[in-house]
Amino acid sequence: MTDEPIAEIPPLSQRGQAAARWLWRGFVDWITPPRCVACRTEVTEGASLCLACWQTLTFIDEPVCEAMGTPFDYDQGEGALSPAAIAEPPPWQRARGAVAFTETAKHLVHLLKYNDMHEAGLAMARMMLGPGRKLIADCDVILPVPLHRKRLWRRRFNQAAVLAQEISRVSGKPYLTDVLLRQMVTRSQVGLTAEERRKNVRRAFAVPPERRPAIEGRRVLLVDDVRTTGATAAACAETLMAAGAAGVDVLSFALVLTPAQLHIEA
Ligand SMILES: [Zn+2]
Repeated sequence: MTDEPIAEIPPLSQRGQAAARWLWRGFVDWITPPRCVACRTEVTEGASLCLACWQTLTFIDEPVCEAMGTPFDYDQGEGALSPAAIAEPPPWQRARGAVAFTETAKHLVHLLKYNDMHEAGLAMARMMLGPGRKLIADCDVILPVPLHRKRLWRRRFNQAAVLAQEISRVSGKPYLTDVLLRQMVTRSQVGLTAEERRKNVRRAFAVPPERRPAIEGRRVLLVDDVRTTGATAAACAETLMAAGAAGVDVLSFALVLTPAQLHIEA
C-alpha cells in the first residue's frame, strides 16, 4: 500500500478530443470502406455514388427556364421563360433542380427521408452545387423548407435541412433555422390534384415577428429535396416575401418533370 494519491486522468483538451475523433473516424473508414449510397457497392470516396448508379440519374443541364428550372430543347437566350412560367409566374425569382425525379433520385430521397441516411444527403447536396451555383452565389441566407414539429419528432430530422446545412457549409453562406415555420400539419400531398395541393399548403407557413430581421432586405435561398407542383415552395416564397425578404430563389435536389420535359418519346 502506498499513500500516494491516485493520479486523476486529466480531461482531454478540445484539441485532444478533435484528434481522437479524427483518429476514430480514420479507423472506422479503414475497417469499413466507403460504399455507394444507393446500392452499397464499394467506391473510393464516402458519401458518393458508384458509376453505374450515377449513370442512371437524369441531370438537368442548361439551358433551363429561368423561373422554373425546367429544361429547354435549345438555348433561348439569357433569362428565357417557359410557357408555364409565363402563364403562371411563381412567387420566387429563380428555381433550379439537380436531377429529374426518376428511380435512382427517388431512391436517394427515400434513403434520406425515411432511413435517416445522412450520407445520401451529403451526396445529394453536392449534386445541387453546380446547378445552383448562381443562386447560391447571390443569396444572403439559406433556409430549408420546414417540416412540422410533429412530423419532425416522428421522423427525427428534416431532410431539407440536411441538404441546406451542407450547401451552407460548402458555400459559407449562413444557414438559418426557426425563421420559416410550419403552422399546422398539412395533409400528405400524395394523391392530391394541383389545386388541392395549393389549398393544402396555403397559409401553412409563417415567419415569427421576432425572426423577421434575419431575412428583411435579404436574398433567401430556399432548399428542398423534391419539387413536385411547386405549391409548397410557392407558399414558402409568398410567406418570406411578405415578411420582407428582398427575393427568394428555390433550389431542389429533384424536379418532377413531365415525359415531354424529360424528352421521352410517348
Ligand atoms: Zn451504386
